[in-house]
Amino acid sequence: MSLAAVYDIRPVRVISRGRTVHRFALFSDDGTRVSGFYPSEKAAQNERRARIMKWIETAKPIERPCMCCGHVFTSEGRFHRLCHICTTGVPRKEW
Ligand SMILES: [Zn+2]
Repeated sequence: MSLAAVYDIRPVRVISRGRTVHRFALFSDDGTRVSGFYPSEKAAQNERRARIMKWIETAKPIERPCMCCGHVFTSEGRFHRLCHICTTGVPRKEW
């Protein structure tokens, strides 16, 4: 799942008890609805924020190539994309 997969909030019309009502929902980048319906845009934003926080918190350290130099390093999370030397200019011992 990418971050963009929970990013898009769109207004939707829902038939509820025979009436058309306006709601908000989260959509993935391919246009698939990925949430229930929320009564306000604010409620949908809160849900999106909760999903993003959970996504960040569940990130685990993995080996990944540095976005800058391509060196494979141990990333501490999803937003850790640069190796130590590209971040600081100073090589670590294991580099
Ligand atoms: Zn690097």
